[in-house]
Amino acid sequence: MARKVSGFADKLRKQMTDYTVHCPVCGESIQFVKHIVSVTSKDGKSIRFKEKVERVCKCNRQEIFK
Ligand SMILES: [Zn+2]
Repeated sequence: MARKVSGFADKLRKQMTDYTVHCPVCGESIQFVKHIVSVTSKDGKSIRFKEKVERVCKCNRQEIFK
């Protein structure tokens, strides 16, 4: 039977694991960056703002942080 690890440490470890996602292309850990983008409606009369979460790594960092 598997030994029970203390709940807190277990939770913490899980969170940290969830946070570290590595890019399969460059191998760098991916950061999640919140981005606000403006979206123009089809008729071009109104602009909405949308929250978008970008995954940033070596591959697209230059594109996102201009
Ligand atoms: Zn990458």
